[in-house]
Amino acid sequence: MRKNIIFFTAILLLSLAAGSCKRISNKNQNEEVILASFTVLADIIKNVSKDDFIVRSIVKPGVEVHGYQPTPSDLVKASSAFVFVDNGFGFELWAEKFISNLKVKRITVSEGLDPIFISEDSYEGKPNPHAWISPKRGMLYVDIIVESLSELRPSKRELFEENGRIYKDKLSTIDKEFSLFINNLNKEKRYLVSCEGAFSYLTNDYGLEEVYLWPVNAESQITPKRMARTISIVKDKNVQAVFCESTVSNESQMVVVNETGASFGGDLFVDSLSEDSGPASSYIKMLKHNLNLIKKGLL
Ligand SMILES: [Zn+2]
Repeated sequence: MRKNIIFFTAILLLSLAAGSCKRISNKNQNEEVILASFTVLADIIKNVSKDDFIVRSIVKPGVEVHGYQPTPSDLVKASSAFVFVDNGFGFELWAEKFISNLKVKRITVSEGLDPIFISEDSYEGKPNPHAWISPKRGMLYVDIIVESLSELRPSKRELFEENGRIYKDKLSTIDKEFSLFINNLNKEKRYLVSCEGAFSYLTNDYGLEEVYLWPVNAESQITPKRMARTISIVKDKNVQAVFCESTVSNESQMVVVNETGASFGGDLFVDSLSEDSGPASSYIKMLKHNLNLIKKGLL
């Protein structure tokens, strides 16, 4: 019954949206909507497009993305959007179904990226989706978005390229500062212990060892074997601080803290930006927040 209600609501909303299409076709170009799957991507696109498109995110700040359940109003938003942009690499488990009935252009950023593969359990051989977590890869996201928007609107190519350059300079500063920090950090201290295995691109790009409680948040479950492995590494390597992520409970990581005497380094932001009042309300702020916490914890 409930399913039927949701279905009919979606159809009703879609027909209302279809009714407004005539109005949309008369809209000024800079009123066209780019719909990103999640907040990090939306923020990167905003920094490249500036006022040229309206950019929105399906998943809201602070909300878990992997297993998100789109709502009827998400469908309506997507049906009137100009283009849908997703990360890919299996990040948005809901995206294929969501997009399958909509006639909207699609850009999948990961098609332009080299993956790092997960090497554990049932995820063996699947790409790790969290490439944006490394500032070095973030700069590649910007390049891909610049190119994609320029193809959508060729007359604005120079503007998008200039916006991209300015934005990448900021990412490059963050990249250089973190590289310098790691290069000056004692090799025995180069461990990043988190809840989700979301930091592979960061640890790979900057020379850290990655340790995590579970491979992806869609699972978000700690097995005794994984818990024992994490505790053993933290003890053996005398890891000073362990971390968790903003979109999941840090309860399991607190067990590691209690068992090992390591300190809790704080919640890192990965899959979702924070609300405006939070510490990670933009991609740049998110990177700075994460890298500052990691620096404090590892010193
Ligand atoms: Zn994740």
